[in-house]
Amino acid sequence: MRIPMTEYLEIDLEAERWQCRRCGHDLGSARANYKEGTLVHDRDPREIHRPLIDPARYEFTFAPDPAWCRILEYYCPGCGTQIEAEYLPPGHPPTYDMQIDVDALKAQWAARGAGTVIPLGRDVTAEPLRVSSGREAPA
Ligand SMILES: [Zn+2]
Repeated sequence: MRIPMTEYLEIDLEAERWQCRRCGHDLGSARANYKEGTLVHDRDPREIHRPLIDPARYEFTFAPDPAWCRILEYYCPGCGTQIEAEYLPPGHPPTYDMQIDVDALKAQWAARGAGTVIPLGRDVTAEPLRVSSGREAPA
């Protein structure tokens, strides 16, 4: 069973692997950081946040200083979809933003029916879970 975790990430519970939701590319162990399986673009933040005033005339231009800030973009090696982006000091390792308890996730999904649907995107409601098999969603 594949469990959606973000717009572009899912976990294959049987294999315990992160996968791209667009192309199914394997991104590594679900017990590790999915970012280890991605392509990383280490960007100069001035490419994204251009100076608001003339950098030839002023030391501070309202653009982030690349000596203090980098933008790391993470892409799927299979399809090129951008999965995540984060702002970090130069040289800082990628953050560990999702640490999934795989055993608890397996136990949670073992109790759900095959027709379980997780609403995503604009269909998100106060109900965290809809079950098409007629069973009530857990509170
Ligand atoms: Zn992909």
